[in-house]
Amino acid sequence: MAKINQNYLKLPGSYLFSTIGKKVNAYKEAHPDADIIRLGIGDVTRPLSPSVIEALHKSVDEMGNEETFRGYAPDLGYEFLRNVIAEKDFKARGCDISADEIFVSDGAKCDCGNIQEIFGTDNVIAVCDPVYPVYVDSNVMAGRTGEYDASTERFKGVIYMPCTEENGFCPEIPDEVPDLIYLCFPNNPTGAVIKKAQLQKWVDYANEHDSVILYDAAYEAYISEDDVPHSIYECDGARNCAIEFRSFSKTAGFTGLRLGFTVIPRDLTTGGEKLWPLWARRHGTKYNGAPYIVQRAGEAVYSDAGRKEVKELVGYYMGNAKIILDGLAGAGFKVSGGVNAPYIWLKTPDNMTSWEFFDFLLDKAHVVGTPGSGFGPHGEHYFRLTAFGSRENTLRAVERLSKL
Ligand code: PLP
Repeated sequence: MAKINQNYLKLPGSYLFSTIGKKVNAYKEAHPDADIIRLGIGDVTRPLSPSVIEALHKSVDEMGNEETFRGYAPDLGYEFLRNVIAEKDFKARGCDISADEIFVSDGAKCDCGNIQEIFGTDNVIAVCDPVYPVYVDSNVMAGRTGEYDASTERFKGVIYMPCTEENGFCPEIPDEVPDLIYLCFPNNPTGAVIKKAQLQKWVDYANEHDSVILYDAAYEAYISEDDVPHSIYECDGARNCAIEFRSFSKTAGFTGLRLGFTVIPRDLTTGGEKLWPLWARRHGTKYNGAPYIVQRAGEAVYSDAGRKEVKELVGYYMGNAKIILDGLAGAGFKVSGGVNAPYIWLKTPDNMTSWEFFDFLLDKAHVVGTPGSGFGPHGEHYFRLTAFGSRENTLRAVERLSKL
């Protein structure tokens, strides 16, 4: 008899965004004329930039020609892309990362979810609370956690690091030493960032305890302030303790195209074992590469024109973020994030729960956001709005929120 992976049964309820979807659909059915504005899910809305489109067209033509047709991509990704990433994302920032330490993939979600496979199931993980759910759920599926405790809304055996207003939504080093530490900056959902000196403390801590930091930098392109590291490899000693995830999704609007990469330094070891060969083995066995045309599109993001266009794209969304931040602060809401990240984290008024505020906002303003409690118990009484809408909808949503 085939047996299921029992760990999957530990996962509670439905996925946050499907619950939101159901609630919105039910509301629409009851109020068919409601003009609903969605600032909830973190998906982009602007079209791909001209350089990316041009690269796609050109590479599609290459695929239709016998001389230039390409089949399977090399395991780690095409060199043309890995070279430009190493040069422009890392060497240009003083980070000692070479092209052969970059593993091209179809996005950061898969990599963040799959990376745990190369670690034993007896590792203890530490995650922020609130947190991007993929880090926790993928470890639950792998059996690296205990049961879910509905009263605490936490899985047993996981170290949760509260991110609160008091600590600037930046986790403190926990009392118990974790083996694997998930950090995400700029942060989803809080929009908070970590300063270089703070991140250096984590790197020193991980090196001291032979822990590995899994650093998700999917929103790196949104950093606008100095002293906020774009890569964990800006910190001394990070090559010895950190893996970094990057994505083209929010940087260049590739959520539908799919492209990302993971960096594993050659000298990164744990318990004396190198991690690079393990991920290379996993990649080679279970993954057959991002499409050639998408890797060419990714390369175009790094051209002079591409960089300019992507900067404009990010600038557009950050213009929205500023409209939301300023508008809501002016209307008396307590808001944070939105300066180095496309997420605005707002405290619910009148001590409403996150879901009460969700219903209130949907009903009174026809605006959809994401309840903070969906990202963990310390997200309770918070609410996430995203800057990924159109300018027009962002302005309309802020106007409605200001009138509440
Ligand atoms: N990491 C974080 C923190 C995210 O918020 C997201 C997407 O929302 C991802 C990774 C997923 O990125 P990708 O689209 O490259 O899979």
